[in-house]
Amino acid sequence: MGKALIIGAGGVGNVVVHKCCQNPDVFEEILIASRTKSKCDALKEKLDGGRTRIQTAQVNADDAKEVARLINDFRPDVVINVALPYQDLAIMDACLETGVHYLDTANYEPPETAKFEYKWQWAYHDRFKEKGITAVLGCGFDPGVTGVFCAYALKHYFDEIHYIDILDANAGDHGYPFATNFNPEINIREVTAKGRYYEDGQWKETEPLSVKRVYDFPQIGPKNIYLLYHEELESLAKNVPGIKRIRFWMTFSDSYLTHLKVLENVGMTSIKPILFEGKEIIPLQFLKAVLPDPASLGPRTKGKTNIGCIMQGVKDGKPVKYYVYNVCDHQEAYAEVGSQAISYTTGVPAMIGAMMIIKGIWKKPGVYNVEEFDPDPFMEELNKQGLPWYEDFAPALLD
Ligand code: NDP
Repeated sequence: MGKALIIGAGGVGNVVVHKCCQNPDVFEEILIASRTKSKCDALKEKLDGGRTRIQTAQVNADDAKEVARLINDFRPDVVINVALPYQDLAIMDACLETGVHYLDTANYEPPETAKFEYKWQWAYHDRFKEKGITAVLGCGFDPGVTGVFCAYALKHYFDEIHYIDILDANAGDHGYPFATNFNPEINIREVTAKGRYYEDGQWKETEPLSVKRVYDFPQIGPKNIYLLYHEELESLAKNVPGIKRIRFWMTFSDSYLTHLKVLENVGMTSIKPILFEGKEIIPLQFLKAVLPDPASLGPRTKGKTNIGCIMQGVKDGKPVKYYVYNVCDHQEAYAEVGSQAISYTTGVPAMIGAMMIIKGIWKKPGVYNVEEFDPDPFMEELNKQGLPWYEDFAPALLD
């Protein structure tokens, strides 16, 4: 039925490729392209022989012309961008040039500023619309499923949602004193940035990791959670009518935070270039090189993630509370696709989003965030594709 070009063969790319191959009626053919071709070839070797035909290619996705040439050779229906956020604009340029739909899981940030915002990608809206192609932004779990959860709640249970708390808990233990469970550069920058949330029409800033609560998560128990800024807050604050407050919370273990503090104190998380033995290096990139590769955590990580949204609002004039969440087991994910739950919970929604595009269910020329599409077919697929969700109409709330 369809063809997908998958760019990036890291932790998330691995899951996307596995899940596309599990759905050969939708993904007849895929091309896996990344900076290091041997990683694409290794995936092909693992999965060849099924009904999905697999090709591989080397690509520098910072170069829009190179990506456009690849698209023109392969002619996919959709490009699934699971490289790094730095490549988003070059890949969107290539999609525009070739007239092919686009999907990603993280918003663009210029490498030199490390400031992630949707403004650069939203600026492509009119050009995508004129070209008759769709860009789906932020289609992982968070951002991604969290936005779909909000759209689903709004469609079925609320007239207006006033308060949203997005809760991202990882109770997985990989046994290392310190490791990040996805790209360390992106992860550490996200965590060390100032906290920010939206309230009464304004953005409010907090010192990094200074706002803490304890939440008793279904299936994983009580955890410390910290207020962070996360990219879906920007689009949801814009797209959920009547919203009064939206916040994002993530769990961190005490050990993780202690290591992070030390690394920060000695300058290892800095993105300012320094001279090392006559050569310019970026400390955070060097740190990435010495930390365990997130892809290697799969076999070691035990425990579960729980990611979901707690919402409060009104329906027919009556107050409504609603919590919707997914629980994903690291070892079950690993047994199925060879990646831990963080990559799994990102790669499965990316595949489902591409499926929505190929099937013509999510079809709207322009650039959109996931909550701007019909959530029902996506929610149905989550249950079928390994990310079942649960509902609670009387959840504990956060003050
Ligand atoms: P990895 O670092 O494991 O993988 C990134 C892949 O992209 C690697 O294969 C890398 O190649 C490739 N790549 C990097 N630069 C280029 C380039 N210039 N040209 C071609 N390929 C390139 O990251 P993850 O798989 O963990 O994450 C992938 C994306 O998913 C990131 O954008 C991340 O922010 C996002 N993400 C989103 C989440 C969500 O819930 N929405 C959660 C987790 C991640 P090489 O192998 O040579 O390094």
